[in-house]
Amino acid sequence: MKHILTFDIEDWFHIIDIPGLEDVSTWDKRPSIVEDRTNLILTILEEFEVKATFFILGWIAEKYPTLSRKIAESGHEVASHSYWHRRVYNQSRKEFYQDLKRSIDVIQNQTGIKVKGFRAPSFSIVPGTEWAFDIIKEIGLEYDASLFPAKRAHGGYPCAAGIHMLETSKGSLPELPMSISTFGSMGFPFSGGGYLRLLPLWVIKNRFKTFERQGLPVVVYLHPRDFAPDQPRVRMPIHRMFKSYVGLTTTESKLKSLLADFQFTTCEDALSSYLETMIEKKKN
Ligand SMILES: [Zn+2]
Repeated sequence: MKHILTFDIEDWFHIIDIPGLEDVSTWDKRPSIVEDRTNLILTILEEFEVKATFFILGWIAEKYPTLSRKIAESGHEVASHSYWHRRVYNQSRKEFYQDLKRSIDVIQNQTGIKVKGFRAPSFSIVPGTEWAFDIIKEIGLEYDASLFPAKRAHGGYPCAAGIHMLETSKGSLPELPMSISTFGSMGFPFSGGGYLRLLPLWVIKNRFKTFERQGLPVVVYLHPRDFAPDQPRVRMPIHRMFKSYVGLTTTESKLKSLLADFQFTTCEDALSSYLETMIEKKKN
């Protein structure tokens, strides 16, 4: 069983919905951790000989013009995390199309590699914004990884667990949703961001084993800022403060332990295995 390892490449000031941070004219002047911590991630992956998918923010790719190529040349998959990190449900169809197209163009021009996947900022494809799937398909992408099938502040979309097909007006689109563990009637994530930083490693590993027994790969998602205990702190409500900054010193050792105990691959690789299995099933 190969699990799916992903990183959303953005800076500490791309935390969503914090007054002041969404003013893009301030971004250029802010100190940055993204290049340094992406390099740390690349070093860890090289040490464990693991390939991952990097959903890169177009703005970051443009600001650090060698970063996408470095990621791609290390054998990882490069994909889009939008250009401006705007939530899908706050945009019109046209704005979403233009933002997505711009991010894809930047990454493809820098790497010479076709971008196949997209993850929405803050998993912000919600019920009512299904038009986003049509645009993702229309623009030529081959999968989406934006759905978060549990309640959350800025997203959440009920859907099947594991890789599955979505129907769009332009044809079917594979979806790689976030992994959600059930606890009674509650669903909670355990394999990314603040949840991975907060939960003890043994809980996370137990959930991995549960997913393996069900034949489901776990999707891990982390950001460079999850590896940056020294990142600048911003004012925010206390519950968000906790979620944004808890366990920052534990991410690196937790990731290394997971890489030692479980097998991981990229989204595109997991998807092609899934599609091959589907074809085999149809034959039999
Ligand atoms: Zn993001």
